[in-house]
Amino acid sequence: MNIVELAPGIFHLQGGSNMGLVVREGRGLLIDAGLDEDAARRALRFAEREGVQLEAVFLTHAHADHHGGAYFLQRRLGVPLYAPALEAAMMEHPIIEPLFLFGGAAPIRELRQKFTMAQPCQIARVVDAGPLEVGPFRVEVVPLPGHALNQMGVAVDDVLFCADAVFPAETLEKHKLIFCADMDAAQETLERLPEMLYARFAPGHGPAYATGEEITAICRANRERLEQIRERVLAALTEPADTDTIIRRVADSFGLQVTTATAFFLARVTVLAALSSLERAGEARAAVEGNRLMWQKAV
Ligand SMILES: [Zn+2]
Repeated sequence: MNIVELAPGIFHLQGGSNMGLVVREGRGLLIDAGLDEDAARRALRFAEREGVQLEAVFLTHAHADHHGGAYFLQRRLGVPLYAPALEAAMMEHPIIEPLFLFGGAAPIRELRQKFTMAQPCQIARVVDAGPLEVGPFRVEVVPLPGHALNQMGVAVDDVLFCADAVFPAETLEKHKLIFCADMDAAQETLERLPEMLYARFAPGHGPAYATGEEITAICRANRERLEQIRERVLAALTEPADTDTIIRRVADSFGLQVTTATAFFLARVTVLAALSSLERAGEARAAVEGNRLMWQKAV
């Protein structure tokens, strides 16, 4: 774990999935809990080294790599967990993540492992956008929907922990089809993010970005990738196609090898997000023909 102090007492704990730790008056506020018990233990060890007790854990969104460690912190410390509505329900009922990936049916075993199904935890307080006081901490809860439907970042002073609103360049390069639940919301979030009045932006993966050119450039790269996915999905509709055919065409166009069912179901969400964006814009439509749901360009 690489620890970067972004501002006095505000730490970015960089690992597989990043976390944040804010230290005030001998108390600690943790942002996200990592994938599992091991990740949460690493954050806890750092907090103990800083001589702080955790006051609360803020969970940005209900993806297992961000809240998977929460059950351990709750069990070990009895620390209250804070999360946005909807995301909170998924954290308390983690079957929902593999359930939606698998189209609402009882998920296959592969989707029930820790990367897509966390241990359940109890959310003490469901948070809304706006200012929030937690012990000695005065934070601002900032809506960042798109990657997850009700993802929220949390700001302390001039640092915004911005969850998975923005992915680092390496992720854009490696994964191509970055996970996105609502493409229009994600684009709008990426448009707003560089305009927000924070000095540092600390995402859930990769390094932190400074205000100005750094955050602008990475938000632009993420926007361009989402736009590219949307364009390639539309280009895949030269003739009517079912969803699996579109996924294959788009993955092929990026030179992407999807090798596991989990990776396939994750890619499928992003392609469906693009199709639903196109449908809302009147550029594509779905119709059932010959017992197949077929997508085609709307003319
Ligand atoms: Zn995520």
